[in-house]
Amino acid sequence: MLLTKFKGKEALIPQLKGKVFLVTCHGCKEVNLSGAEHEAELLFNEALASQHINGLLTADYICNPEYLQARFERFADQVREADTILVFSCGVGVQTIADAFPNKRVIAANDTYPLPGFQGVTPLEHDCKQCGQCYLNLTGGICPITACSKSLINGQCGGAKNGKCEVDPNMECGWERIQKKLAQIGRLDALKCPVQLRDYSVDAKSE
Ligand code: SF4
Ligand code: SF4
Repeated sequence: MLLTKFKGKEALIPQLKGKVFLVTCHGCKEVNLSGAEHEAELLFNEALASQHINGLLTADYICNPEYLQARFERFADQVREADTILVFSCGVGVQTIADAFPNKRVIAANDTYPLPGFQGVTPLEHDCKQCGQCYLNLTGGICPITACSKSLINGQCGGAKNGKCEVDPNMECGWERIQKKLAQIGRLDALKCPVQLRDYSVDAKSE
C-alpha cells in the first residue's frame, strides 16, 4: 500500500507557471490518496480566482499509459495550451504523466510515503520507492531514488561513462537523464536549488 500527502500550497503555488491543467488520481486499491481531491479542489478554487486553471481531469489508474491516453483525448486542447500539469497522485502516476508529456512542466502535488506490507502489483516501467520527500519537481519528473543506482538526490557521482551508470553499465545514468530532461523543458535552473537533505527517519517510521 502507498500513502500520499499534499505538499502544501506554499510549496506548490510558486511552481504553477502559466496555464495550469490539474490531474487528480482516484488511486487504486493499493494507494491511499486521502484528502488529495479535497486539496485539489481548494487549490483549484484558489488558482481559478487568479485565472490560472484551464482544465481538470479526474481518473483512476493514471499510472497506466494506455488508459491515460484515452482519458486525455477529450482534453487535448487544454493540455496543449497548458504550461504546467499539476498532478495529485503517487510518484508512479506523476512519472507516467511526465513521460506522456515530455515537453510540459509536470509538477507533483504530493509526497509518497512508505507503508509496510504488500505494495500491490503494478506492471509499470516507472517506480517509486516511497521516500516521503518527492523530488520529481526538481528532476523533471524522473525519480532520482530509483533512476540512480545510488539514489543520489544532489546530482551525479561523476562515475558515468558514455552515459552509462558506473554501478550498472547496462543502465543509463539516471542523473544524465535528469539533466537532459531539464534541458529539454527549459528547467536547468532547478539544479541550482539548495542542497537537498534526505530524511531517512521517514523510512524508519514504516518499520
Ligand atoms: S522521489 Fe521517487 S521515491 Fe521519492 S516519492 Fe518521488 S517518485 Fe517516489
Ligand atoms: S553513474 Fe549516474 S546513475 Fe550511476 S550511481 Fe552515478 S549518478 Fe547514479
